[in-house]
Amino acid sequence: MTEKARASFPAKLSNSRVGDGRASALRASSLASIPLASRPQGLGMDSVAVRARMVQLLQKQGIVDAEVLKAMGTVERHRFVDSALVNQAYEDTSLPIGLGQTISKPGVVSRMIELLRSGSAGKLGRVLEIGTGCGYQAAVLSLLAQEVYSIERLRGLHDKARENLRHFRLANVHLLFGDGMHGYEKGAPYAGIIAAAGGDAVPQAWLDQLAVGGRLVAPVHSKAMAGGGQALLVVDKTANGYQQSLLEAVHFVPLKSGVA
Ligand code: SAH
Repeated sequence: MTEKARASFPAKLSNSRVGDGRASALRASSLASIPLASRPQGLGMDSVAVRARMVQLLQKQGIVDAEVLKAMGTVERHRFVDSALVNQAYEDTSLPIGLGQTISKPGVVSRMIELLRSGSAGKLGRVLEIGTGCGYQAAVLSLLAQEVYSIERLRGLHDKARENLRHFRLANVHLLFGDGMHGYEKGAPYAGIIAAAGGDAVPQAWLDQLAVGGRLVAPVHSKAMAGGGQALLVVDKTANGYQQSLLEAVHFVPLKSGVA
């Protein structure tokens, strides 16, 4: 994506406050620590206020992890979508990011990251994300994990994510181009593995690369779902083996082999 294509938020207002990302990220995180009910009025239709509303919606959906809510209130999602979609950036909807792929819904991103953290205090250690897409979820993860390794099989999206993330200068995000079916051995073992694309089963490599005490969250096709649809799978690796739970239905793009 070119600089020209990346509009400020919202596209039609001139007093946008997103000119300097670092400054606005600071504003957003300090705002996120104010109880929602007592927030100052009259912020206007800038992206901080719109994100705060998105966070309220996430809370209504049942997201309770304060660190996850704070991260969702901080990362400027509108910087990850094309200019024509900027005004939908804070709706709870997936949006096209090119090459037939989508940025996940904020509700799903926050749900999966909440599961990944499983109530832990403090930051996760190293996390592997399969399916970088536009880089949005990697940016959210960067606030909640020590290191984020994110792998993408489509060169065009890997490049787009790099460009999108440049603005944020996130030193702990490592973007990798490759087939995430093999995981990423060099960063292993991982405290968390999170997949943004769904296959028929979880590749063995992911389980092997998970640390003991680590957790994997991934969409998988399941016979338990109507029509073999996808559900969220959570796998905990313990000293005595794996513990699995299959949760609610989800809709992710397919996990595919090879690179393109
Ligand atoms: N987390 C992303 C969501 C992207 S959609 C975001 O925030 O935008 C899922 C992505 O998974 C797609 O870009 C798709 O190309 C990628 N993907 C599918 N199979 C993959 C594989 N085997 N390895 C790496 N990426 C894969």
